[in-house]
Order: sequence, then C-alpha cells, then structure tokens
Amino acid sequence: MALDEYKKKRNFIITPEPEGSVQGIEDEFVIQEHHASHLHFDFRLSLDGVLKSWAIPKGVPLEKGVKRLAVETEDHPIEYLNFEGVIPEGQYGSGEVKIWDRGKFHLVERTPDRIVIDIEGTKLRGRYALIRFKGKEKDVKNWLLIKTK
Ligand code: MN
Repeated sequence: MALDEYKKKRNFIITPEPEGSVQGIEDEFVIQEHHASHLHFDFRLSLDGVLKSWAIPKGVPLEKGVKRLAVETEDHPIEYLNFEGVIPEGQYGSGEVKIWDRGKFHLVERTPDRIVIDIEGTKLRGRYALIRFKGKEKDVKNWLLIKTK
C-alpha cells in the first residue's frame, strides 16, 4: 500500500496530521513550508490517489532555468493538501507546517524518471519539470525541479 511508510512513521494519537482516507483527487498540488530540524519546502502532487512528495531544501524555483534539488519522500494522503499545524516534539518531522502555495496542475508528461506539469498556483505559475538523477542507486530519490517556462 502506498501509504504504509507514511503511517509507519507517525503516531496518529499524538500528531495532528491526517491518517488518510480520501481517494482520487487528481490535479491538485500544495507546497508546505516545514520548520523541521532544517527548514525545507514540501512539494506534493496528487497522482495515483495519493500525494507524491518531494522535500526541497532551498525552496521552489520562481524563475525560468533555475534548478533545485528535490528529494523524494514517502507518499502522503490526499488530506495533506489542507494540512497546516504543529507536529509535536518527538514525532516524525516535528515542527510547524504552513501552506506556502496551493492550486491546480495539468500533467503534460510522465515517465518513471520525468514529470512535466503546468502549474496554476497563487505564487507558482508556469511549466515545471521534475527529473530524476541518473546513476547510482543512492541517487534514486534525488530529483531536480526546474522551471522551464
Ligand atoms: Mn517536510
């Protein structure tokens, strides 16, 4: 099951994060500003009935041609599109989560190593490509997020 890793990492009695039951919302994205041990941005796309997720240490690129490292993380439940709150100390990802941008996307291209989308958010607009690093096994979770137009 796609959410097994997500559920295994969390104690839903303690964390305010959603456990996950909604299925099938496609074409929505969210970017969350996550004040965990290291500030990062979580980029999530609704695909395959879950939120495909990447952590972006330096934030999403706003200008054409700019590339940012995006590290693939576990699938999150669809309800996470709306999640804002504080993950308690001692829990996985503890710290404050705020929605940085939200909106729709249109899927232009998708292969196992490449996702191209047109984004219509409030802050983010335009075409973005996610491209998986090639090569060694340790790199398989590393992608580049590029604004292409
Ligand atoms: Mn995070």
